[in-house]
Amino acid sequence: MPDMSPKKTPMPEQDPNVRNKNFDEVSLGYTLEMAKAEASRCLNCKNHPCVSGCPVNIQIPDFIAQIVKGDLDEAYRIITKTSSLPAVCGRVCPQESQCESKCVRGIKTESVGIGRLERFVADYHMSQNADNVVKPEPNGHKAAVIGSGPSGLTCAGTLAKLGYEVTVFEAFHIAGGVLMYGIPEFRLPKAIVQREIEELKALGVDIKTNMVIGKILSIDELFEDGYEAVYVGTGAGLPNFMGIEGEGLIGVYSANEFLTRINLMKAYKEEYDTPINKPKRVAVVGGGNVAMDAARSALRLGAQSVSIVYRRSEEEMPARKEEIMHAKAEGVEFRVLQNPIKIIGDDNGNVIGLECVEMELQEPDASGRRRPIAKAGSNFILDVDSVIIAIGNAPNPLIHRTTPGLESNPKGCIVVDDETLATTKDAVYAGGDAVTGAATVIKAMGAGRKAAKSIDNMIKSKQL
Ligand code: FAD
Ligand code: SF4
Ligand code: SF4
Repeated sequence: MPDMSPKKTPMPEQDPNVRNKNFDEVSLGYTLEMAKAEASRCLNCKNHPCVSGCPVNIQIPDFIAQIVKGDLDEAYRIITKTSSLPAVCGRVCPQESQCESKCVRGIKTESVGIGRLERFVADYHMSQNADNVVKPEPNGHKAAVIGSGPSGLTCAGTLAKLGYEVTVFEAFHIAGGVLMYGIPEFRLPKAIVQREIEELKALGVDIKTNMVIGKILSIDELFEDGYEAVYVGTGAGLPNFMGIEGEGLIGVYSANEFLTRINLMKAYKEEYDTPINKPKRVAVVGGGNVAMDAARSALRLGAQSVSIVYRRSEEEMPARKEEIMHAKAEGVEFRVLQNPIKIIGDDNGNVIGLECVEMELQEPDASGRRRPIAKAGSNFILDVDSVIIAIGNAPNPLIHRTTPGLESNPKGCIVVDDETLATTKDAVYAGGDAVTGAATVIKAMGAGRKAAKSIDNMIKSKQL
């Protein structure tokens, strides 16, 4: 009989006043007992609506049923039939708007904690040091993947399982994309990302780092080197700025740069000599997950005050509710309906303030969100020494500028066929943030998987 408790089994986490001073993971994960309790809330519905909410269609009730039975290896096997990064997704997927939003338990009470259970199974697998990867028989075909974010890695893993010889070309010195340089350690420990990448390498995927495609090699040269298909998963790493006065001052960062210095260059560790202006009074502009990550990281670097400045109301914030809650509990101040108009500097070019205006909301615009407009005469100055800008990212134009025949739209996103993810260039496929603009890990993975199937179909059709 299922357990009809209305609430999810709580997951232990670090105390907010302790965790806001360290970079250790905030959520601590379920024990076996907690996982079994949560798994027994699942009704094992025949038409399993939760599966349709998962962009990679994990067979959710099947893996949950294995947790109830205590067969965690089988649960892991079921999850990894369609997902190559379960420890990552169990942590950072916006479950509340995906699989869990479709769970029937969620109609009257809290949905089953699908993400928490997925994380539990993946962590259990890692804790067992299980080395059960079976390298598939080679099929004699070669494919190249550009970018080692979740999209590129998923495409590579799916193709490798089909027997392809896959090489991933990554611009950075380390693989993982935003999972490594964007999402902070306290939400997604980097050792976990690297463990999942090791599993892909064990499947035979070769990852070549420090390889900027478009500079060191072009896509056409990859074909000359014998690759029969190319997948472009280069993400959206080019930060947007507001275009206001003072954005060039010392103490102004894009969230990407700030988080990269912390995540990849370990600015939070004394023994690393990373150039970062350790801020004391910080304004983070934006209301998405990236803004929350930057604000919470600034607190952990020792800032005395950190404010989120967002031009709409909290209701319109795109960040996950859980992240907003965590940020508030840790001491981040929320300044909603406020918009920066100028960053103020001193004679040495250092930030000393942020001039803002108060905003009010009008009727919804084309995006469906209520349009903010400035209140006349409402200007005020925030006393800050750093401003972190987190108002979105666009794809880097390098690939499409160096690849004849590859079309992009006016926003710089690569144009693809929705069904196959084929681009306008023969045998080149693309997906993830490079196609959609900034989105989510699991959507990027879904695209990687879909493109791998299209590549396989294309190569098989050429053999007929
Ligand atoms: P990326 O992860 O950006 O990977 C692209 C890779 O391609 C990078 O490694 C890059 O170095 C490489 N590359 C680029 N150009 C080249 C080139 N020319 N040659 C070779 N390599 C190249 N999503 C969630 O679901 N949940 C979250 O909680 C969440 N939090 C986020 C927090 C932050 C701070 C950020 C920035 C994003 C967050 N996202 C979150 C969004 C999510 O991380 C992205 O949607 C996802 O990583 C996109 O995957 P991708 O593989 O398309 O691109
Ligand atoms: Fe849910 Fe994400 Fe796991 Fe799919 S991958 S089941 S959407 S948590
Ligand atoms: Fe279980 Fe919810 Fe999926 Fe039903 S919808 S099978 S209760 S997770």
